[in-house]
Amino acid sequence: MKAVAIDGPAGAGKSTIAKQAAERLGYIYVDTGALYRAIGLYVSQRGADPAGEEEVAPLLKDIRLELVLTEEGQRVLLNGEDVSRRIRTPEAALNASRVAALPAVRAFLLELQRGIAERSPVIMDGRDIGTVVLPEAEVKIFLTAAPEERARRRLLEHQQRGEQADYQTLLEEIKARDHADSTRAIAPLRQAEDAVLLDTTHLTPEEAIQAVLNLVKRGG
Ligand code: C5P
Repeated sequence: MKAVAIDGPAGAGKSTIAKQAAERLGYIYVDTGALYRAIGLYVSQRGADPAGEEEVAPLLKDIRLELVLTEEGQRVLLNGEDVSRRIRTPEAALNASRVAALPAVRAFLLELQRGIAERSPVIMDGRDIGTVVLPEAEVKIFLTAAPEERARRRLLEHQQRGEQADYQTLLEEIKARDHADSTRAIAPLRQAEDAVLLDTTHLTPEEAIQAVLNLVKRGG
């Protein structure tokens, strides 16, 4: 299986780095966080509690998710509707993190993610790709950075999109999401035993991309 698993906390640079590395390798880039975000969005639109398994589980059968690759990158279709922008709000991130703690949601997405990796060479990013989704991946990378640096990067992203954002709030959100993702009972965020740790705190995006490409060349 030609697969590169990249896991790590929010804002470590996973999507930027994985997207670029995939392009240069001719692999498909899969942002699995977008799938959890889309489910979180659907659940909140239906007025259900994103943390409530009994409320969320019956809704899953009504959800059809598709990842479509376009020139501008991956688009997420929720029941045929492009929700790629709507899933990028802080509220969507929080709802994603809540539904991601539910076993029914993780089981629902496991098959979808494995199916994609069976069809083509992938770089898949998420929280549990190396540990649960693709334990046989050739290369596993745990990408991280200091929380302060991650908050700074998120602030820049918001500013570039012309959105209002506050550094302290972003830092608090990142720390809260790290905590929720690392301490949940099912598929918690953790480094796989055979994953290489890549700390991007002091790396430029290009340096981090090169580090990933070198690991792929070396075969992990
Ligand atoms: O990566 P992103 O910030 O878009 O992920 C949103 C949320 O989805 C994460 O905070 C995490 O709770 C969840 N997630 C997950 N497993 C993945 C990808 C994302 O639990 N493979």
